[in-house]
Amino acid sequence: MPVTQTLRVPDPIDALLSAHGLRRTGATKRVLGWLLAHPDTSYTHAQLQTALQSDSTADGPGDGAVTLDRVTLYRLIDRLAQVGLLLCRVDAKRVRRYQAMPASVHALPHFECQSCHRDQPLQGALQGNALDLEVAAQNALQALKALGYQGLSLDLAVRGVCADCATAATAHAQT
Ligand SMILES: [Zn+2]
Repeated sequence: MPVTQTLRVPDPIDALLSAHGLRRTGATKRVLGWLLAHPDTSYTHAQLQTALQSDSTADGPGDGAVTLDRVTLYRLIDRLAQVGLLLCRVDAKRVRRYQAMPASVHALPHFECQSCHRDQPLQGALQGNALDLEVAAQNALQALKALGYQGLSLDLAVRGVCADCATAATAHAQT
C-alpha cells in the first residue's frame, strides 16, 4: 500500500460526492462548494448561475476555469438534490430554490422564512411545545413503519415571515 495515499487529507467535498455516488467533476464540486460556503442562502437556478459566474475569477486556477451552461447547471443541481445534498423548495412565487441541506431540516419543527429564505430550527422559540410536536411526529413514523412503510422521512416546517424580516418590514413602513 503506497504511503502517500494514506497521508493525503481527503477534500470534504470530494468525500461527500463519493459517499453519495456522484462523480467528482470540477463543475459538481464548484456548485456544491459554493452552496456549502453559503449555507444560509437559498438560490434559484438563475441566481446560482449568476453567483457562480461572478465568482469565476476568485477561485484557484482549476475551479475558476469551469464555466457552466444553464442545462448542465440544472442537471447538476437536480442530481445533487436527488441524493439529498441540496434542499429544493418552492418559494411563495412558485420558483424553485436550492441550498445546501441545512441541519435545521432535521429539526422538528423548523421554520422557513418566505422573505429571507433562511431556515431555522424552532425548538428555542417553541420550547416545550416543540418537543410535543417532535414526539407526535416520531410516533406517526413508528406507526407507519409498523404497517410496513419504508424509507420514511418527515419534514415539519412552519412557513411565514421571520421576526427579523417582519421587524425590518415594519421599520421600513414607518420611515
Ligand atoms: Zn426572514
